[in-house]
Amino acid sequence: MTVVLQAGDRIAGHLTEHTDAGLHVMARDEFGWCVAVDPAGGGCSIYESRPEVCRRFEMGGPYCQAVREDYANRNARGIPLQMF
Ligand code: SF4
Repeated sequence: MTVVLQAGDRIAGHLTEHTDAGLHVMARDEFGWCVAVDPAGGGCSIYESRPEVCRRFEMGGPYCQAVREDYANRNARGIPLQMF
């Protein structure tokens, strides 16, 4: 997923990048994960200041489930769903 930043988002520059299409987005690592994912625990390392689109994303909601289903269809192991 591409996390497109909004005008009000205040994210450190080293965590973001601009796409060829000119969008300001969260940067990704070599595996495609958002660079703000905490590699130790898998959570968001900038949770308190996370982008607006991340704040609106409903964990376990219809879009979340659709993304997980799509990922699972493309990858044998899928993503374990954890609700907190
Ligand atoms: S919640 Fe945090 S780790 Fe997840 S996509 Fe948003 S900024 Fe990245």
